[in-house]
Amino acid sequence: MKEDSPLTTAAPVLVPMPAERAYTYAVPERMRVVPGSIVRVPLGPRLVAGVVWDGAVEQVDPRKLRPIDHVFDCPPIDHDMRRFVDWIAQYTLTPPGLVARMLLRAPEAFDPEPWIEGLQRTALAPGRMTGARSRVLETAESGLAWTRSGLAHAAGVSSTVIDGLKAQGVFETVMIPPRPVVAPPDPTYARPELTPDQAAAAETLRAGTAAGTFGVTLLDGVTGSGKTEVYFEAVATALDKGKQVLILLPEIALTHAFLERFQSRFGAKPAEWHSDLAPKMRERVWRQVAEGTVRVVAGARSALFLPFKELGLIVVDEEHDPAYKQEDRVFYNARDMAVVRGHIGSFPIVLASATPSVESQVNANQGRYARVDLPARFAEAALPTLRSIDMRRAPPARGSFLSPLLVEAMSKTLARQEQSLLFLNRRGYAPLTLCRSCGHRFGCPVCSAWLVEHRFRGQLVCHHCGHNERRPDACPECGTIDHLVACGPGVERIAEEVVATFPDARTIVLSSDLVGGVRRLRLELEAIAKGEADIVIGTQLVAKGHNFPNMTLVGIVDADLGLANGDPRAAERTFQLLSQVTGRAGRTGKKSLGLLQTYQPDHPVMRAIVSGDVGAFYEREIAERERAALPPFGRLAGIIISAETRHDAEAHARGLRRAAPEVSDIFVLGPAEAPLAMVGGRHRFRLLVHGERRSDMQGFVRQMLAEGPKVRGSVRVSVDIDPQSF
Ligand code: ADP
Ligand code: ZN
Repeated sequence: MKEDSPLTTAAPVLVPMPAERAYTYAVPERMRVVPGSIVRVPLGPRLVAGVVWDGAVEQVDPRKLRPIDHVFDCPPIDHDMRRFVDWIAQYTLTPPGLVARMLLRAPEAFDPEPWIEGLQRTALAPGRMTGARSRVLETAESGLAWTRSGLAHAAGVSSTVIDGLKAQGVFETVMIPPRPVVAPPDPTYARPELTPDQAAAAETLRAGTAAGTFGVTLLDGVTGSGKTEVYFEAVATALDKGKQVLILLPEIALTHAFLERFQSRFGAKPAEWHSDLAPKMRERVWRQVAEGTVRVVAGARSALFLPFKELGLIVVDEEHDPAYKQEDRVFYNARDMAVVRGHIGSFPIVLASATPSVESQVNANQGRYARVDLPARFAEAALPTLRSIDMRRAPPARGSFLSPLLVEAMSKTLARQEQSLLFLNRRGYAPLTLCRSCGHRFGCPVCSAWLVEHRFRGQLVCHHCGHNERRPDACPECGTIDHLVACGPGVERIAEEVVATFPDARTIVLSSDLVGGVRRLRLELEAIAKGEADIVIGTQLVAKGHNFPNMTLVGIVDADLGLANGDPRAAERTFQLLSQVTGRAGRTGKKSLGLLQTYQPDHPVMRAIVSGDVGAFYEREIAERERAALPPFGRLAGIIISAETRHDAEAHARGLRRAAPEVSDIFVLGPAEAPLAMVGGRHRFRLLVHGERRSDMQGFVRQMLAEGPKVRGSVRVSVDIDPQSF
């Protein structure tokens, strides 16, 4: 990589604000800055951190410029990363300053980590030997420096023992450099014996990684086929080449099990990166990634913005997962941006999934991505037998949500002392509460959504803005007491039914609002894996990646749930989610069963799941997308216009619509009320821009925004290039 030369007199600095371009600052004499340097600059009355950017500076008399205040002692953000930020800003139509903000998320890390006080053995011997003292001396035998508490802990003594030895001169104080957050991984630590299929797949990935050039490989294999083991071989190759590796995971709930798995393969954990990391740890990881001490990061989508020193491979696990899409400030899909990052940095990308996105399938079909298949589960693990339960023919008893067929399967599973999982992707007790006397429905006062009853908490809650109120006894409309009824099930209600039906079974409910934080969730998941529950009832938290060896029955309570909205992506999403959930069963040699409760057993999604004819399902999906020129055969952008009044939002949306350029290959649909017409008291309208595959969507939308009405008052406009739902 080429070295950036220092800038004298003036430098463009990108600050982490909605700035459309870098601002110019004077470089004081004797200050050394290069593109990528992290600096502190005055901005209005404040001092903020920013990055020295590329490009020519404005021709201004440097004496009129405000000077850079400080250069941090930090490795500069490299050229590839700067290009990546610019690329995302261009592509997503976001001010580059806002994108740069994602890269400056660890302010304390801009200064080097301080050295810490440690203790080192001297030549002196203690005056009197005790058991505790000899344990300390044994522990410190290697002559390496220890921290006081680290030594006490390792020797199993109290810190006062250490203090006593220090007072006698047996230890002296030394300064020791900051410890790595994780030990270096060893590519040869525990290489598994791969099956012939796996070995062939691994070889393809290894070759791609060793070549060290850009290329995307779709690793497509059923759940449990060993995709992780296989891409670990590519990770090992990258490490051998002295490269850093990023593994993206969709869900932080998954990272813990993943870290352990990585450790058993590489002898050390990767560094984690996600929003739940303690601030101090965040700073250290950021810094050590920049310095190259951390070799592998396993993280959520924001890990794409870590300042890697020598990144050489990105793996996107569960590449189809909607969690990779950020829809806040910077609207981006981390899977797609990982591909861009690989292109800019000339290194390979691996996309892994049991149910790849239609986009990736098409890319592989058309030869833009290589494809590696793993068709079978590892060892004797067999995919579950899958059946749909036609709810029209085998309806549940009144007031119940589980078909007799599912209940029977559950009781057989219990009798075999195996585990069942009931999946319902809906938190709370019931999605709607109404009054039987007057028909009043409880809605959110500030969103166009019904309030969901959470019975454990005794509340009615809005799942969009968090508004909550106590569930009253009387109807607020007609005053009738005790006439409120819960309509439809959430996981809490299913749990109630399960407990009533199987009072002796150990039942666990897993739902993000019940599980108190990531730690608690981890414990629950471990307990389930150890067999400490008979029946698990969960939302999509339980769908992903977990390995529950004794789980032999999966029941989908409402397989049709995701199909209800009119979104063209609904079938794909439902298929992916249902495949993933049913994939929780049959992780070992035991026979397993997946049952789907559905009112539409002939729906292509149900047929694909039950028959296992995944190929036919994708073919049909792809053909439909192609016919309608929907992504990836055409392009879409969503523009959401919101305001405090319906009138302002709609007027602005119409104004934007009128500003649309006249071209033949792109047209605008709407404005129409957004799928959620009101959220948090803001009224929302949507324009959908639909273009051909090679259309210049960005140019088109940019022109609309530039020529449309000025954003004023409470109006907000956000652009979502490649929206998830459309
Ligand atoms: P996937 O990522 O495709 O769902 P995993 O990599 O999680 O599959 O593999 C499923 C299970 O099989 C894991 O417990 C894994 O450790 C085990 N496994 C897969 N391949 C091998 C292998 N070659 N040797 C030993 N265990 C394996
Ligand atoms: Zn609300």
